[in-house]
Amino acid sequence: MLFLVDLDGVVYRGHDPVPGVAEVLADRVAAGDHVLYCTNNSSRYRTEYVRILGALGAPVQSDWVFTSARATALELAASDPPVRVALVLGSRGLAHELRDVGIRAVDASSRGLAADPDAVVVGIDRHLTYARLAVAAQAVREGARFVATNRDPVFPAAEGLMPGAGSIVAALETASRRAPDLVVGKPGPILFEAAARSVGMDPRDAVVIGDGALTDIAAAARAGARSVLMLTGVTSRTEAEALPADRRPTLVAADAAELRVALERLQGGEAAA
Ligand SMILES: [Mg+2]
Repeated sequence: MLFLVDLDGVVYRGHDPVPGVAEVLADRVAAGDHVLYCTNNSSRYRTEYVRILGALGAPVQSDWVFTSARATALELAASDPPVRVALVLGSRGLAHELRDVGIRAVDASSRGLAADPDAVVVGIDRHLTYARLAVAAQAVREGARFVATNRDPVFPAAEGLMPGAGSIVAALETASRRAPDLVVGKPGPILFEAAARSVGMDPRDAVVIGDGALTDIAAAARAGARSVLMLTGVTSRTEAEALPADRRPTLVAADAAELRVALERLQGGEAAA
């Protein structure tokens, strides 16, 4: 089976592991299943997750990590016409993923603009300035494709809720007076589709494991995948039960022990909770 696994709220919460989940995943990989980690976070290069997940005892290789940055890079590399130069309103990790697929990543500066970018790629950018936003908006107005890694408005941090990539996408949307041409992350299906395609599988044969009803489970429904909602993160059981029928997870698991049982039930061909 193919498991598309969200990270924060499923494998760990902040710096703490969700007890037992890494072990469940390790057992599934040992039994021959595929595990791919799918996160909207666009800031890190994937080897950072290899270190983080490895330290938790989760089974991981570099190619098993699908950040929205990597999925964006793969989508743009495969697009027609191809993207050759991307102006990055985002992190170094995003630029690194773009370079990995042969795209020249330039900064949101007058020099970057002079490189005649085919696309403006937006992720979380902790060095956002008025000048960089202005350059990105100019590139979009001049015809570059407007590509968003994700539209998460905020994300939780130790300091509280922090502006996410979606806040920066909204600023660029306003400044360029154009909507994004492509949004890669959840709740859209592209992140899961790119991950499944990387192992030669159809997302409709995959099982998504996530804690966000409005992100992971919604994206699973759009990609045609079955899903297990973990109650170890942002969604409560009450919220899950209030979802409309076509947006409900296939199964719900309160903890790692219930996750293990849920995955066995899905393997046995059970379609609905
Ligand atoms: Mg999550």
